[in-house]
Amino acid sequence: MSLSRRQFFKVGLSGGAAGLLFGFDIKPALAQSRGLKIARTTETHSICPYCSVSCGVIIHTLGDKAKNVTPQVVHVEGDPDDPINRGTLCPKGASLYHDILNDRRLLKPQVRRPGSDHWEDIPWDQAISEIARHVKKTRDETFIETDDKGNTVNRCESIAWNGGCTDTNEINYLIVKTMRSLGVCYLENQARV
Ligand code: SF4
Repeated sequence: MSLSRRQFFKVGLSGGAAGLLFGFDIKPALAQSRGLKIARTTETHSICPYCSVSCGVIIHTLGDKAKNVTPQVVHVEGDPDDPINRGTLCPKGASLYHDILNDRRLLKPQVRRPGSDHWEDIPWDQAISEIARHVKKTRDETFIETDDKGNTVNRCESIAWNGGCTDTNEINYLIVKTMRSLGVCYLENQARV
């Protein structure tokens, strides 16, 4: 079979057609290689963190079934069983894989001290202790028991809570209970699910 240079490039670009032209069909091989990518992965169902639509995603992880192996995310796709997005993802959600593996992704709590010009990493235990101390101090100093007319209000207007779109109904239930018990009245959540 003789091919002009132009025909050769056309064939090369058309993938499976190349195999047919050269006498074999490579479609099954291509389909097999696509399937193998997630064949041995662990599926974790999660929620896209970008916007309030809260689309369901499946995160495929390799290597978490053996000792001394660091799990590696190899693929993220829309969850076809999720009633919100039924397997679809917008371009932001479709790029979630790169967000998870980005070397600039924050993995530790950070704090910027008063007067400082930079953020510093702190351990989780320290972050939780510091937050708890600030919440207690602020609430103790600003709690309002009665309003101007003497009505009992028991509220704390100096603390606000804003939740993220990956917070589930169950987490939000606990958040509302906790915030209401502190008297916090300014609480909101990005998610609308
Ligand atoms: S996939 Fe797109 S629409 Fe869905 S939650 Fe993520 S950013 Fe929002």
